[in-house]
Amino acid sequence: MGIHMVEVGQGMGCPECGGPLKVQAGEAIVTCEYCGSDVNLAVGTKYFLKHTIIPSKITQEGAVNAVKSWMKRGFLKPSDLARKSKITRLELQFLPMFVVHVVARTKYDGLLTRTGQNIEKKGELVKEYYWEVLGRRASSFPTRSYEVPLSHKVDFDTSRLEKGAKFLNSEIDEKQAESIAKGEIEEHHKFLLKTELDVTHSMTTTFDFKDTEFLHIPAWFVSYEYRGKIYELILDGATGDDIKAEIPSMEKNGLMGKLFGA
Ligand SMILES: [Zn+2]
Repeated sequence: MGIHMVEVGQGMGCPECGGPLKVQAGEAIVTCEYCGSDVNLAVGTKYFLKHTIIPSKITQEGAVNAVKSWMKRGFLKPSDLARKSKITRLELQFLPMFVVHVVARTKYDGLLTRTGQNIEKKGELVKEYYWEVLGRRASSFPTRSYEVPLSHKVDFDTSRLEKGAKFLNSEIDEKQAESIAKGEIEEHHKFLLKTELDVTHSMTTTFDFKDTEFLHIPAWFVSYEYRGKIYELILDGATGDDIKAEIPSMEKNGLMGKLFGA
């Protein structure tokens, strides 16, 4: 037998409306496509974290136009990019996201040695974050370079989902999201403290979690082909801005050759 997608929750019904739940392996929180309730699969009951959504404002046509205008913009792109490329994939996805509101406090102790002397450095770095954690483990969505347009959010309702859009359930719950946020913020503080410390004696971070939000955000996943290669673009479904944009290298397409007469 070949490998196939396993529906782990086959036969499982929504605890709210009784409708059949579509569950894929690895998912933790499943949204009922009939009534919009969220179900915590680990316990089989309703998931109570408030759920909101950023509605999509960019239609398929709008996404194509945004891609074309992006291709024509900026001097770092090949001049024939818009003319010579072909869109091979255009998909609107609603991605699960947690926004973790937390105050992180890092106590540090170490030395600054770059001046040639050992200067003792001791202090506390305190920062407040609305840290974003994507609810999917294998998405190419660049969470760190995206800011949720929170002013656009509305209560979750299945009528907010565009027809044909792909809706993705979350593979983690808020506890896991908070734990991921902890690890990432710790790394981030280590990075920030590089300007303060050359030698670290101790560094401990404590977290004061305020609130965690659960929402779905719209993103257009676009692939385009240019001179035989495939590139990826991700557009914010609420604003049309590019969140991720792969640009063909200029040397490979002969443009540099043209410019410099080689
Ligand atoms: Zn339901």
